Amino acid sequence: MAKFIDPSSIRASQPANFVHNDRSTLEHSGRAEENSSNFVYNPNNRLPIYAQRSKLPICASRDHLMFLLEKYQVVVVVGETGSGKSSQVPQYLVEVGWAHHGKQIAVTQPRRVAAVSLAARVAEERNCMLGDEVGYAIRFDDCTSPNTKIKFLTDGLLLREMMGDPLLEKFSVIMLDEAHERSINTDMLAGLLKKVLKKRSDLRVIVSSATIDAQKMKDFFNVKKRGDVSTDNAAILQIEGRCFPVEIMYSKHPVDDYVKATVDTVLIIHKSNAPGDVLAFLTGQDEVEECCRLLSEKLKNVANISKYKIQAIPMYSNLPAREQLKVFQRAPSGTRKVIFSTNIAETSITIDNIIHIIDCGFVKTTVYDADFNTETLTVLPVSQASANQRAGRAGRVTSGKCYRLYSEDEFEKLKPQSVPELQRSSMAFPILQLKALGVSNVAKFDFLSPPPSKNFARALELLFSLGAIDAKVELINPIGNQMAEMPLNPMFAKCLLTANEFDCSDEILTLCALMQIKNVFHVPSSGKEKMKAARVQREFYATEGDHMTKLNVFTSYVNNRRSKSWCDKYYASYASLNRAYHIKEQLLKYARRFGIELTSAKGFDDDKVLRCLCAGFFANVAIYTSRGCFRSIRDPVSSPDLFIHPDSVLYTVPFNSGTYVLFTETVHSTKIYLRECSIVKSDWLLQVAPHFYSVR
Ligand code: ADP
Ligand code: MG
Repeated sequence: MAKFIDPSSIRASQPANFVHNDRSTLEHSGRAEENSSNFVYNPNNRLPIYAQRSKLPICASRDHLMFLLEKYQVVVVVGETGSGKSSQVPQYLVEVGWAHHGKQIAVTQPRRVAAVSLAARVAEERNCMLGDEVGYAIRFDDCTSPNTKIKFLTDGLLLREMMGDPLLEKFSVIMLDEAHERSINTDMLAGLLKKVLKKRSDLRVIVSSATIDAQKMKDFFNVKKRGDVSTDNAAILQIEGRCFPVEIMYSKHPVDDYVKATVDTVLIIHKSNAPGDVLAFLTGQDEVEECCRLLSEKLKNVANISKYKIQAIPMYSNLPAREQLKVFQRAPSGTRKVIFSTNIAETSITIDNIIHIIDCGFVKTTVYDADFNTETLTVLPVSQASANQRAGRAGRVTSGKCYRLYSEDEFEKLKPQSVPELQRSSMAFPILQLKALGVSNVAKFDFLSPPPSKNFARALELLFSLGAIDAKVELINPIGNQMAEMPLNPMFAKCLLTANEFDCSDEILTLCALMQIKNVFHVPSSGKEKMKAARVQREFYATEGDHMTKLNVFTSYVNNRRSKSWCDKYYASYASLNRAYHIKEQLLKYARRFGIELTSAKGFDDDKVLRCLCAGFFANVAIYTSRGCFRSIRDPVSSPDLFIHPDSVLYTVPFNSGTYVLFTETVHSTKIYLRECSIVKSDWLLQVAPHFYSVR
């Protein structure tokens, strides 16, 4: 039964626009790392290892799982984060003999850090040296030996291994871990493994998931004869988890501002004196911090509204591990813990003793726009599955309550399932990879969730115009194969592979690396400091646009011995620049392998860098029109109006009609903005992509 609350009834000040929460939508794009944690909490770390292992929920299901694996080729294991799936299952497999005769057990992870830290943990549990019986392999770092029985590796690396070993003969069991995340690579592996399973009856696949939606996975792998369950080759194993009911409450009216409504709901719970800790879901670090601030402000004004004290705790992936630990620590008696968290608490971590959930109903994810061929980080409504998963984070120790800051009608209108990454990403790189893996007809590939046909068509068109595939969708050697191997979006890969023609591979490598990080600059929150930052940063602004500006910042950073004090002086992000520096070093290894020499235009000839960018991004160009905005040159007539983003250095520049800008990033909110852009010349476009432009 649903009860109704109305958090807006105690809202104090002016409403903000709910749907276009610009604070979040204007944040820089990138993979939603915000939703994952590298930090592992171990509540039993004082106990000896064998005791820690036996306390894990999966322990009771060990024999059942081993039995299922004898009978079924695929087993989907469902259990919440922390139940022991990743660390225990591979060990059980070794114990019952799945690693005999030199065969290995592979456990895939979407994130590199998880592969390394799990391997370290399991090696410790087995009392062996890391890299001996238990090892890991991530890009650029192979820590395994001929003795290795359990190999943790990134899903991307397993895909790569399939290029050399299509049937994965080395392995007896493949565990697709964290499958609920539905990363592109997990989805691709699922499709490929389904093929391999047909050819290798001895192979087993374990799909492990932290959410209850396992049926789809099972159905995908299950190739039973129609209606006859006795021929099933896939099964589901549910590890005991939460069992207490969670009462769902909806907001009567849509709330104007979920950040405020979240804080107000905390106050309602607090005032009611209902016992128990609170976990509130928000979409990003900025909102989390604002909630903490708002709550403490409001508490100042209302003395003694509850018999409890309140301890507000933020949680997001960028938070240092020491701070993250606080969400797991018990609050002193008489104190209520209130955790404001990003989606990281939906599946990536499990917090005990949560009774109240507050769900804002939104999540930050990347979306792909086939028309502009760009991926943008956007705040979108959650799916029903996601809302239910959030609610389930309460009720683990006793019955719980979930306050949804949206109405029941709105809930009914939500998508049943979240959209997997593969359906909201460019298909260009996945198609290249499938081709490199020898998939002859990519359009007929058995995807767990097939991508929209528009995305597919756009990707083929792009790859063709980049010279990566021919008209028969076969890879063109060597450029197509090299692009498939490079961990870069194919447009950047093309720039890099062409960079020697323009003597600027050094600059292009830097730009490729800079594209992988968030802002190079900090934006101070106080108005006065903001102005000061803008003043000192202006020194780096290039009239050509954002790409040359970013290059200027990076070059200066390196010339100043990458010092933190230099970064502080210019409000540059030390952590981001440092990361870009290391990414560049890694990309350099690829460049060398493909025979790209390190060349530099050395700031003498900026045209060269921009012309080289055109070689990859010729399809991402907009033209300034007499209407005072840009239009995509792909189709200026039907293109929506495009605007320069306020973050871009070109924001205040007056343009003449007919000016071209190349963009590498867009932001969609109330309007479509070009966020990373540079002014280019039409001659350059004709020179580097005559095939593309003459057709138009
Ligand atoms: P799952 O995969 O189901 O989320 P894991 O096997 O990763 O569970 O972890 C189970 C438990 O093992 C954790 O709750 C924690 O107590 C312990 N553990 C796992 N990894 C580590 C680690 N790197 N350091 C310390 N403890 C760990
Ligand atoms: Mg796990």
